[in-house]
Amino acid sequence: MTKYIFVTGGVVSSVGKGITVASIGRILKSRNISVSVQKLDPYINVDPGTMSPYQHGEVFVTQDGAETDLDLGHYERFIDVNLTAASSVTTGQIYSSIIAQERRGDFLGGTIQVVPHVINEIKRRFREVARESEASVVIVEVGGTVGDIEGLPFIEAIRQMRSDVGRENVLYVHVTLLPYLSSTGELKTKPTQHSVNELRRIGIQPDVIVCRSDYPITDEIRDKIALFCDVDRRAVVPLLTLPIIYETPLVLEEAGLGQLVVEMLDLPRLNGDLSEWHTLVERMKEPKEPLPIAIVGKYVELRDSYISVREALRHAAAYHNRDIEIHWIRSEDLERDGDSLLRCVQGIVVPGGFGVRGIEGMVIAARYARENQIPYLGLCLGMHVMVIEYARQVLNSPEPNSTEFDLETPYPVIDLLPEQRAVQEKGGTMRLGGYPCHLIKGTRAASAYGENVVYERHRHRFEFNNDFRGTLERGGLVLSGLSPEGRLVEISELRDHPFMVGTQFHPEFRSRPNRPHPLFRDFIGAASGVLREGDQHTLPL
Ligand code: GLN
Repeated sequence: MTKYIFVTGGVVSSVGKGITVASIGRILKSRNISVSVQKLDPYINVDPGTMSPYQHGEVFVTQDGAETDLDLGHYERFIDVNLTAASSVTTGQIYSSIIAQERRGDFLGGTIQVVPHVINEIKRRFREVARESEASVVIVEVGGTVGDIEGLPFIEAIRQMRSDVGRENVLYVHVTLLPYLSSTGELKTKPTQHSVNELRRIGIQPDVIVCRSDYPITDEIRDKIALFCDVDRRAVVPLLTLPIIYETPLVLEEAGLGQLVVEMLDLPRLNGDLSEWHTLVERMKEPKEPLPIAIVGKYVELRDSYISVREALRHAAAYHNRDIEIHWIRSEDLERDGDSLLRCVQGIVVPGGFGVRGIEGMVIAARYARENQIPYLGLCLGMHVMVIEYARQVLNSPEPNSTEFDLETPYPVIDLLPEQRAVQEKGGTMRLGGYPCHLIKGTRAASAYGENVVYERHRHRFEFNNDFRGTLERGGLVLSGLSPEGRLVEISELRDHPFMVGTQFHPEFRSRPNRPHPLFRDFIGAASGVLREGDQHTLPL
């Protein structure tokens, strides 16, 4: 029998509910309890794939090609699981599936209503994750905050689950914020009381309240919340803002949350072993020499757009005992001010992105990296930019481009595949998810991976144009990763450069705090000048 932990949020959004969920997952996993996770998003988009980063932040891509909420990235990194499309549910998906059933005639004669049809469809999704993952515990995070009109069906569904699967198999965790009033120097519990009241009004009494705060939470405050919200005092769990998010599982375990959860859900009461995680966090916390790395992108003012890239850099830096110091550089600023903004960095990352704005600034960054032997890692769009810049140099022309940015270019070095030209729809029509990539022996990519074939996650429409392979290879570009039949270029790199690698895929999604992604690891290795001897393979001609 699968057990469920339903996590809701109160008071305000963005208090770190996703990190809390991910941390509970890690705590359970440390007790050898298998976990899966699901995120419910109340918006009507089918997935965040069509949303602007300004609306949504990063789109996290799963191995099976779902475009999902960035919280899935936290879950994967903390729990070290590969999630699937079933872990990401939106109101849009629920409604489109019900409407498709209605059109097929599945409900013939019936009136379709929120209760029971919408609620049943939501509950079916909970069971689907349970069945697919075969996990002992499924943790479900309800997006938004309690009381939002659009989130109501999700709350009703989690309420019904208690009688569907039995009280003993369901736990409700509520994550709230305790605001601090500087005038009186105190933390306030009233908003928490109100949001718990709101939950109760819908029929849910939380079992655990996780209190987020920027200031220490006194025993009196815990007592007060326990009394007014009618929860066990042990179940009021303080969670202070932490400088390193990976410390959260340790803090929650220390506060007794792991013990509480296994007791309340009657799970095996083994002690958790977080020692490896502990070592990792200790290593991250130690002061280390900073390593300045630029992320050159279009949306850098929105840090949430590049969460997985930032985390992958952190994992790699921790591996090399360095502190990453990210310089967020708007590519448009490079267009205006030239490459002077890059003078102080030791490595450059150009992450994924869409649209023409800022592209020329990224080309400036790629040129600077190539000419000055600065390590460069191009992720999807970052590889396109690297190829464009290289082609401009080899062909001695400013015109090579991607047809995404210039349809008329005489040198479309990045282009759509012929079969993609016919695709009109925008949602879910990219090359998405994990595809195999064969590594070419003797290249930097192959030596980083130490494997012959890897599976990496994609999210793009445009590809390296094979018509230019010969020209660019003769110029010195090395195609170091190819699709199995050799038709698609998955990785390209520069010969005679410490590390200039571009990937058609997004390696950042597979990086884990305890297992940095090999390409990020070697990129940081090169940037900090410690790439091991053995890694300096000669590149093929
Ligand atoms: N805009 C490019 C494409 O669609 C790159 C996408 C990306 O960086 N994820 O191919």
